[in-house]
Amino acid sequence: MTFSVRFWGVRGSIACSGPRTARYGGNTSSLEVRCDERMLLFDAGTGLRYLGNELIKNEGVSRPASLPLEADLFLTHTHFDHVAGLPFFKPFFKSQNRFRLWAGHLVEGMTLRRVLGEFMMSPLFPVPPQIFRARMEYREFKAGETLRPAEGIAVRTTLLNHPDGATGYRVDYGGHSICYLTDTEHVPGAPDRNILGLIAGADLVIYDSMYTDAEYDAYVGWGHSTWQEGVRLCRAAGAKRLAVFHHDPEHDDDMLDGIAREVEKELPGSIVARDGLVVAVD
Ligand SMILES: [Zn+2]
Ligand SMILES: [Zn+2]
Repeated sequence: MTFSVRFWGVRGSIACSGPRTARYGGNTSSLEVRCDERMLLFDAGTGLRYLGNELIKNEGVSRPASLPLEADLFLTHTHFDHVAGLPFFKPFFKSQNRFRLWAGHLVEGMTLRRVLGEFMMSPLFPVPPQIFRARMEYREFKAGETLRPAEGIAVRTTLLNHPDGATGYRVDYGGHSICYLTDTEHVPGAPDRNILGLIAGADLVIYDSMYTDAEYDAYVGWGHSTWQEGVRLCRAAGAKRLAVFHHDPEHDDDMLDGIAREVEKELPGSIVARDGLVVAVD
């Protein structure tokens, strides 16, 4: 059995390049979860473009070129850093492919199709989503529902605390679990009960660690959390490992090295996510 996550983008808010962020990477949120043959994608930040290029490259090599690509793409929400890669994902431009896009944070009456249509609209963007040749399905749900994208895969969801709303996810497959919780703000001293319920006993918790506890006071109300709160939540819920994620663009590689040492002490086996890292939980 294969159950793994590959990080294609780990940065929050805005992509960043240059030598200070080269080792952990500067692409914004994008994850590829593999449940054996099945591909589940989470968020569509700038990292998604690199996944698309890899999938195209593998056509006719590790995968027959005639075989359609099929995947579910779950969005935490639709802030720029989580959707910026969508128009640049090459598999969307092949008519044989099929994708289902999911969002659970939209207010009543708003649809994902409409949000993306307004995002990819002149004069902000030259072409609309209708340019995609793949079969695209847009699905809304209410955060809190459980989704079943394929036999044997359960995707539980919960509402996060973020401006405009966001959805947290937990994927259960083959007796293991990966949780993805970004963008969310904590209330100091009052652990988020929705999150505690979702991550109970999980193998891996990927968590919004935009700030440190020391920085947090300056960013109350901005919709983000800290790696230390991630540790506290994992401990309280009996989750095994934390992946520090959604790094502040101002946090350079040396600072993230420091956080990696700290988090390993606090919750052994935990990691600081970086572009290209693969973590298997099977
Ligand atoms: Zn974000
Ligand atoms: Zn956001």
